[in-house]
Amino acid sequence: MAKQPMLKFVTVERDMPEKRAARTRNADFDEIYAEFAKAKAAEQASRCSQCGVPYCQNHCPLHNNIPDWLNLTATGRLEEAYQVSQETNTFPEICGRICPQDRLCEGNCVIESSGHGTVTIGAVEKYITDTAWENGWVTPVKPSVEREESVGIIGAGPGGLAAAERLRAQGVQVTVYDRYDRAGGLMTYGIPGFKLEKDIVMRRIDQLEQGGVQFVLNCTVGVDLSFDDIRAKHEAVVIATGVYKTRDLQGPGAGAKGIVNAIDYLTASNRLNFGDTVPEIDSGELFAKGKNVVVIGGGDTAMDCVRTAIRQGAESVKCLYRRDRANMPGSQREVQNAEEEGVIFEWLAAPSGFVGDAVSAVKVQKMRLGAPDASGRQSPEVIEGADYNEKADLVIKALGFEPEDLPMLWGCADLPVTRWGTVKAAFTTGETDLDNVYAVGDIVRGASLVVWAIKDGRDCADAIIDRLYNRKDIAAE
Ligand SMILES: Cc1cc2nc3c(=O)[nH]c(=O)nc-3n(C[C@H](O)[C@H](O)[C@H](O)COP(=O)(O)OP(=O)(O)OC[C@H]3O[C@@H](n4cnc5c(N)ncnc54)[C@H](O)[C@@H]3O)c2cc1C
Ligand code: SF4
Repeated sequence: MAKQPMLKFVTVERDMPEKRAARTRNADFDEIYAEFAKAKAAEQASRCSQCGVPYCQNHCPLHNNIPDWLNLTATGRLEEAYQVSQETNTFPEICGRICPQDRLCEGNCVIESSGHGTVTIGAVEKYITDTAWENGWVTPVKPSVEREESVGIIGAGPGGLAAAERLRAQGVQVTVYDRYDRAGGLMTYGIPGFKLEKDIVMRRIDQLEQGGVQFVLNCTVGVDLSFDDIRAKHEAVVIATGVYKTRDLQGPGAGAKGIVNAIDYLTASNRLNFGDTVPEIDSGELFAKGKNVVVIGGGDTAMDCVRTAIRQGAESVKCLYRRDRANMPGSQREVQNAEEEGVIFEWLAAPSGFVGDAVSAVKVQKMRLGAPDASGRQSPEVIEGADYNEKADLVIKALGFEPEDLPMLWGCADLPVTRWGTVKAAFTTGETDLDNVYAVGDIVRGASLVVWAIKDGRDCADAIIDRLYNRKDIAAE
C-alpha cells in the first residue's frame, strides 16, 4: 500500500523558514525570512489534514485551493502545485509574503485549533511560486485572440494590476494609468523591502508589459489627463486608485516641524532603496538616522514605520498606541518582529500635544480601556493626572488613510461615493452607477489588504468581459 503522504501534523512540528537574527536584519532592507529548502517545504506541506471542509480555503479571500497545492507540494509535484495556485491568485508569491495569514488562512487552520500549530500556508505558497519563477514556469499572458475593445485602468496597485492581467488574458487592450513613476501602488512605494523585496514586484510588472499591458506612468488623472478623456478612450474604465489621505492629529503643536505622514516617510525610504535621489532624505526631513522617533498608531503601517526607522539608524524608536496589545489592529507577528528589532511599544498611550516649533517631545496621556462601544470594542479613556512627555525629534503619523475626494478632483459629480468618500460599487463586480465605470480595491473597501484588492480586480475583469462579450462566447473560442 502506498505510504500516506499527508496528515503528518502529529509527528512533524510546525516550522517556519529561518528568520534572520534581528542584529543582521536591522542593517538592511532585505526580507527577513529565508526560503524553505525543497525537503522542508514538502515536510511542512505534509502536515495538512486535508479537511473535507477546508476552513483555510474559506477564509482566504481568493478561495485558494490550499489543500490541493499542499498535497502536490508534499508529493514533489511542484509545477502542478504552481498551476493550481496561480489559477485563483494573480500574485501568489506576494500574498505568501505579506498576507496577515494569522487572521486569514492560517488563523482558521483546523490543526491549529486542535493545538498542533497551523500549517505554514503562506510560506509554502511563496515557496511554490518562487520555485516557479526560478524554473521559468511563470510566463507572460498570451491571449489566443486580440480584441479591439480597450479598458483603461486608473491605478497600478494590486487591484488594477490583477484586473489588467485577467483582461489581457482574454485579448482585451489594456492601458494602466498611474501618477507614480513606477507601477505597483503600495506594493512598490508603501510596503517596505523587509516584507516584500522590490524585485519581486518589478518582475511581475515586466511580465505584464511583456504580455501587452500598456503603462502610462507619471500621469495623474484629474491633472494630466481628465477622467472624461479616459472614459472617451476606452470601452470600460476601472478606478483602482487606493486611499492616500492621511488621518490627521489634533492637539496643540500638531503642525510642528518634524511631524510627518507615514506614507511620505515610507515612500521616501522605498525610493532611496531603489537608488533614487530623495531630497527629503538628504535634508533629513524624512530620515530617522540619529533621531528619537515616535510613531503614532497601532496598525500595519505603524509597524512598517517603526521597523524602517530602526533600519535607518534611529537613536530610539517608540510606538504609541491608545489601546493595548490585544486590541491593536496590526498583525501580532509584525509586533513581535518589531520588538525583536528593538522597537519599544507604549500601550494605552495617546498624544495630546507636541512640544517645540521643531518638535522635541510628544505630550502623552495614559489611557485605560473602558466600556465597549456600539461596535463591541472597549473604548480608551484618559487616566487623569498620568501625563508625561516623550522625547521625540521625528514624529510619524500612522493613523490610517481615507479616500481622496474623487468626484471633486475629477470634476465628476456623478461618480457615486459613500458617506466615507469611498466609491460606491457592487462588491462582486465592481460596477458603479456610471455606465461602464468600475471600481476595485481600497478605493471601494477603504484601507484593506493586497489580497482583497487582487480579488476585486479579478472579479471586476470577469464582469467587464461578461459585459463586453458574454463569457459563453469566449468559452466557445
Ligand atoms: C504602509 C503599508 C503597509 C501595508 N502592508 C500590507 C501588508 O503587509 N499586507 C497587505 O495585504 N496589505 C498591506 N497594506 C495594504 C495594501 O497595500 C493595500 O490594501 C493595497 O495596496 C490596495 O491596493 P489598491 O490597488 O486598491 O491600491 P494601491 O496599492 O494604493 O494603488 C493605487 C494606485 O493608484 C494610483 N493613483 C491614485 N490616484 C491616482 C490618480 N488620480 N491618477 C493616477 N494614478 C492614481 C497610485 O499612485 C497607486 O499606484 C499596507 C498598506 C500600507 C499603506
Ligand atoms: S492568498 Fe493570503 S489568505 Fe489566501 S492562502 Fe495565500 S496567504 Fe493565505
